[in-house]
Amino acid sequence: MHEIYNFSAGPSMLPKSVMKKVKKEFLNWSNIGMSMLEISHRSVDFIKIAESSEKNLRKLLLIPRNYKILFLHGGARGQFSAVPMNLSKNFGEEVDYINSGYWSLSAAIESKKYCKTNIINVKKIKNNKKYILPMKNWKVKKTSSYLHYCPNETIEGISIYEEPKFKKKVVVGDFSSTILSRFIKIKNYDLIYAGSQKNIGPPGITILIIKKNLFYKANKYTPSILNYTINYKNKSMFNTPNTFTWYISNLVFKWILKNGGVKCIEEKNIKKSKLLYRAIDKSNLYKNNIKITNRSQMNITFNLINKSLNKKFLEESKKEGLLNLKGHNIIGGMRASIYNAMPLKGIQKLIKFMLKFEKKYG
Ligand SMILES: *Cc1c(COP(=O)(O)O)cnc(C)c1O
Repeated sequence: MHEIYNFSAGPSMLPKSVMKKVKKEFLNWSNIGMSMLEISHRSVDFIKIAESSEKNLRKLLLIPRNYKILFLHGGARGQFSAVPMNLSKNFGEEVDYINSGYWSLSAAIESKKYCKTNIINVKKIKNNKKYILPMKNWKVKKTSSYLHYCPNETIEGISIYEEPKFKKKVVVGDFSSTILSRFIKIKNYDLIYAGSQKNIGPPGITILIIKKNLFYKANKYTPSILNYTINYKNKSMFNTPNTFTWYISNLVFKWILKNGGVKCIEEKNIKKSKLLYRAIDKSNLYKNNIKITNRSQMNITFNLINKSLNKKFLEESKKEGLLNLKGHNIIGGMRASIYNAMPLKGIQKLIKFMLKFEKKYG
C-alpha cells in the first residue's frame, strides 16, 4: 500500500516513531505490568512523566522560571472563558481582543460574557491580498486589562510573525496551531495557551505557559476547574488529568528535542511551506490570496480557480493517500495542514499530485 499523509487541521498527524513507541509499550508501560491507560495520576510513575514533560517543554521553548506550565482540560475554547475570568477580577473590565480571523473573533465574543470587550479588527485587503496590520498600528487601549490575539488563524491560514512588544500590557496568545512550530521569546508574552491536538499530541490537554504574577487575579465566580491558581497549586491535578495525552505529549516533546529542537523544526516548517506556496503561486489552477508575510506555515489554504473541480480534487487526492485536504466549511476551498509531524515527503507527494491534477483538468 502507498504511504498515507494526513493533512487534517486537528486532531492531526503524529510522528510515526511516537506512535510506534506507544504501541510497543501499550500493554506494559516501563515494565510495570500495566498500561499507561491504567495507571493513577497520583502514582510515582505518572508523576515522573508529568515532571519530565514540564522539563522538556521548558527546554524546548527556553521558558524562564517565573513562568509556570499548566496541563489542563477544556481545549482552547475552555480558555476563551478561562482567560477573561482569571485575568479580570471584576465583571465589565475593559479588555482588548484582536480580530484576525475566526478563532480570535470567537475568543472575543466569549469574553463579552464577562468583560467590556474592545474588538480590534486588524484584517485588511489590498490588491486582492489579505494581510494583517503591523502591531504598531493596532489600536490597543491604555486602559484595558489585557490584550488577546491569535498568531495563527488555523481556518484562514493567516499568521502574525511579529512578536508583541506593548509597554505595560498583559499579552495573551492563543497558540493552538502555533506552539512548537517556531521559536518564540516567551518573555514577550504573559500567557500562552494551546490545545494539544495540533502540534503537541492527541486531543485532551490544554497547555498554559503563564507568568507567575497572573495568579490570584481571578473573578471570584470562576469555576475552580478553570481557576489558574487552584490548578497551579494542585500541580495540574486538581481533578484527574488526561494522563494518556499527557504521556504522548511528552513523547512528542522528546521527539522534537531529538530532532534538533524548535529552531530545527522551524527551519523545516519554513522549507515545507515555501515549497507548497511556490507550487500554488506558479500554477494556473490553484490560488492563495494572502500576502506573503502573513502566510501560515502550518495551514496552507488555497482555492481551485475552477470551483467545479473541488469534488474531483478531493476524490482523487484521497485515492493517492493524501487525506483531509478539504478547507473549513466557513471559507471553503482547500487546506493542507502541515504541522511538525508532516514530513517533507508528504509535501512533495502533494505537489506532485497537484501538478498532475492540473495537467489533467486545468
Ligand atoms: C483548534 C483551535 C481552537 C479550538 O480548539 P479546541 O481545543 O477544540 O477548543 C482554538 N483556537 C485555535 C487557534 C485553534 O487552532
